Amino acid sequence: MTEYEVVIGLETHIQLNTQTKIFCSCKADSWEQPPNTNICPVCTGLPGVLPVPNEAAVEKAVILATAMHAEPQSLSFFDRKNYFYPDLPKGYQITQYDRPIAVGGYLDLPMPDGRTRRVTINKLHLEEDAGKTKNEKGKRYIDFNRCGVPLVEMVTNPDIRSADEAAQYLTRLRQLLRWLGISEADMEKGHLRCDANVSIRPKGSAELNTKTEIKNVNSIDAVRSAILVETERQIREVESGGEIKPWTLDWDDNRKSLHKMRSKETEADYRYFREPDLLPVHLDDDWKERILADFPELPLARRQRFMDTYALPEYDAEVLTSERSLSEYFEAAAQAYGGDAKQVSNWLMNDVMRMLNDANIPASQLRLRPEHLAEILKLVDAKAINNAIGKKLLKKVEKSGKSPAEIVEAEGLAQVSDDSAIREICQKIIDSNPAEVESCRSGKESLIGWFVGQVMREMRGKADPQMARQILSELLKQ
Ligand code: ZN
Ligand code: MN
Repeated sequence: MTEYEVVIGLETHIQLNTQTKIFCSCKADSWEQPPNTNICPVCTGLPGVLPVPNEAAVEKAVILATAMHAEPQSLSFFDRKNYFYPDLPKGYQITQYDRPIAVGGYLDLPMPDGRTRRVTINKLHLEEDAGKTKNEKGKRYIDFNRCGVPLVEMVTNPDIRSADEAAQYLTRLRQLLRWLGISEADMEKGHLRCDANVSIRPKGSAELNTKTEIKNVNSIDAVRSAILVETERQIREVESGGEIKPWTLDWDDNRKSLHKMRSKETEADYRYFREPDLLPVHLDDDWKERILADFPELPLARRQRFMDTYALPEYDAEVLTSERSLSEYFEAAAQAYGGDAKQVSNWLMNDVMRMLNDANIPASQLRLRPEHLAEILKLVDAKAINNAIGKKLLKKVEKSGKSPAEIVEAEGLAQVSDDSAIREICQKIIDSNPAEVESCRSGKESLIGWFVGQVMREMRGKADPQMARQILSELLKQ
């Protein structure tokens, strides 16, 4: 039996989070606005109007290109792509064709088995979005709100070899877009859209066979499922002596199945030509330098640095760099603490991240600042407070905005490590629980934990639990 491998290329459209549309001053994001209320003569293509390019869209595209290791071009052009469709009022889309804003590039994917897969990009170009059509009860409705929203289109080479790698590519791309702050990258809202080109071939073969194109996948899970379903179908088809036809397929996420939309036309005649109403984009060195002045360290580089500099396990480094503000929070806390960074990571990944999830805010919006977390860890290290009180302090600081030391002072939370004070309470607990003392002395040593619990309760959680345990076992042995 032949073993097959799948060959996948992904075409992504990324909505840039500019204030205004790419060629007019309508708001760029009209997600929640009623249909056809966020439009003007420019984005609806009325005669006699002129487009004006949005500088911010160019700048965000250059930031993305740089992060994708692509080469931003010092000179690029806008072109008209002509086709007729009801949601395209001008009869053409302004896009870039043979002279795009950037060429080349790649995205590295760290895979679970430790390998890194490099997915290369052919080019990256700017374009305007079209409107939306909606079919309802036999009628077709058109909403032009989305016309002219700035997009970057980015197409990978056929480098991807499994549905998991495709999912990984989208996960890393989404992380990167949010990290750079240039797109909300929400697939469900269409800020990040993806079509997948899929073909199969015998494993080891280098040829590219006829591919199908999967459209309308609006989550990463859906992309993974659709590719799996389509790969299986193609293998069945080929195994039964059939032939793969260059179909365009529509993914139905409820039924988890693909439907043929249309046979794909051979490279349609879009009659591309230069957009006569727009000047070329001159990206000179000065402008490029200004755009990239605050270019951040990228997630994968930071992930590696966290492993090297702070001796974090790969898992921790991955979680802490999943989001930029979380990674910055970790680093600020680790530096303020100065001790074992793994401690900071543990507290962050457990307690602090739970607080973030509950409140649904990024780390940068916590009132519990990185310095506060470091201070709590130092108090625990110095045995000024115990671990349990430390965890409670996280929430108290978040709620009040006061410093940990202030709260410890005001609420009398300091750990009691005074031998005679703890000994006194231990004796009291022993005296008032003769039955438990009896079973403990006759061999049920696990009861010691219960005694520690009683002492902690009596001392409102402030006793040094190790000291309490020591004194208790000493007294219980008598
Ligand atoms: Zn407009
Ligand atoms: Mn496009």
